[in-house]
Amino acid sequence: MFEIEAIPTLETNYVWMLTGSGQRAYIVDPGEAQPVLERLQQNQTELAGILITHHHWDHTDGLGEILAHTPVPVYGPSSVPEVSNPLEDGDSLVLDEITFTVMAVPGHTLDHIAYFAPAKTTQAPVLFCGDALFAGGCGRLFEGTPEQALHSLKKLTRLPAETQVYCAHEYTLANLRFARQVEPGNAALAQRLARDEQRLASTGTTLPTTMVEELATNPFLRCTQASVKSQMEAHCGGTLTSETEVFAALRRWKDVS
Ligand SMILES: [Zn+2]
Repeated sequence: MFEIEAIPTLETNYVWMLTGSGQRAYIVDPGEAQPVLERLQQNQTELAGILITHHHWDHTDGLGEILAHTPVPVYGPSSVPEVSNPLEDGDSLVLDEITFTVMAVPGHTLDHIAYFAPAKTTQAPVLFCGDALFAGGCGRLFEGTPEQALHSLKKLTRLPAETQVYCAHEYTLANLRFARQVEPGNAALAQRLARDEQRLASTGTTLPTTMVEELATNPFLRCTQASVKSQMEAHCGGTLTSETEVFAALRRWKDVS
């Protein structure tokens, strides 16, 4: 059994902290050091390792200061200089009582990986997916193609429906408001937006989300739905002949909205 808590950093980022037995903590994507070091001290936990999803500065800039303070293994893609234990698609990563499977999810960046741990008796499956998948959206395509990003997202959607999804930014409300433009008739989406507005106001976060909820409300995972395809064709003023074309058009629209 391990606890997962959010450490808000920078403007919209979350560093996720997992604390297992023996008060050993692991963190994901430290874009900033101070909030992490303070939380470790507050919780009286010992940092045991760091997981990185991709090379962007807002996920890695805290590494130098944290490692100077506590030298621990850094797991992640080999593109990140501070990574001591490089990981690739399909690798297993055993961290005390939790075993993650590493999934390559290129698109936002080419080096992007995600970490999935299946259910245990007392814990739902968990996914740490950085900027590959967001609550109600997905990361911008800085390096990969729409084909790659769509393929990566499809891999994630094949995870168990009850998977708890821990992404790296609090972008949920903006994403869901955009999603409402894409699917104005989606009742589950309208309900989710109202609920997440409440949730953010009362708890300070909308995360984690779940895969089942993303499948019902995240337009980037719904490119084969007739409602999404027809809306995108209306937006583009032409026929979109493949799921990839719908996805690419959706991503372009979000980029400028
Ligand atoms: Zn990023």
